[in-house]
Amino acid sequence: MALLSVQFLTKRFDGLIALNDFSLDVEEGEIVGIIGPNGSGKTTFFNVLSGMYKADSGEVFFDDHSQNLLGLKTHQIIGLGIARTFQNQRPFNNLSVLENLMIGGHCRTRAGLFSALFSLPGARKEREQLKAHAREVMALFGTRLRSVEMNPAWTLSYANRRRLEIARALSSDGKLLLIDEPTAGMNPAESLQLAQTIQAINTKGVAVLVIEHDMNFIKNLCSRVVAMDYGQKIVEGTYAEVRHHPKVIEAYLGC
Ligand code: ADP
Ligand code: MG
Repeated sequence: MALLSVQFLTKRFDGLIALNDFSLDVEEGEIVGIIGPNGSGKTTFFNVLSGMYKADSGEVFFDDHSQNLLGLKTHQIIGLGIARTFQNQRPFNNLSVLENLMIGGHCRTRAGLFSALFSLPGARKEREQLKAHAREVMALFGTRLRSVEMNPAWTLSYANRRRLEIARALSSDGKLLLIDEPTAGMNPAESLQLAQTIQAINTKGVAVLVIEHDMNFIKNLCSRVVAMDYGQKIVEGTYAEVRHHPKVIEAYLGC
């Protein structure tokens, strides 16, 4: 049984079909890449999967496959173990790196978020647990985040912002991580380092679905690649099978 099974997902915006009978399985422990020209429905797929957009039809099963995820609220989906980053997400700018990560982890604890953050009576233990967990997540990024953990998020470099976004998604302890264009704006050395971090995350047992334009990144990281165009899956296979497939070349030339 696949960890994630997406079947015939369709999402329309007025006359436009952003996702058209899109199906995809992700096995436990896999890293799957999603490529496709701009506007091909990649982000919409993540938005539907994470409960931000309502699908018009289709089914999504996850983990024990006990229920169709479509129709659940975003926080319920996160609670089941699907975490995501956003293409243009901003962290809470005036909160520190550490606090941003503590917020990401709050749904794991029983104390309310604000009581945990602001040390209301009875919440101290949970606060310490959140902090310890945030630091475990930061450790995946070497000293990059740890060395700036008390700094407000707005002071971070671009690359550290992207790291924080991924760390924040990770802090919810998902079994599947959805990452949308993580290397946008990064230089090649930073992209390579990020690929290694995602590999390390994967080694800890987290499956990853990653949308990315950087083909080297996809090539180095993904055991399987799915190419989309016009909301549909046009080709699926290894990087070598997909990258130079005539349908993929046509999709990119046509845009
Ligand atoms: P990608 O991430 O592959 O670049 P998107 O999923 O963002 O593509 O967009 C797919 C199509 O759906 C595009 O034509 C886009 O304009 C449209 N679309 C996405 N989100 C919305 C929205 N909230 N309202 C209307 N149209 C949307
Ligand atoms: Mg997108």
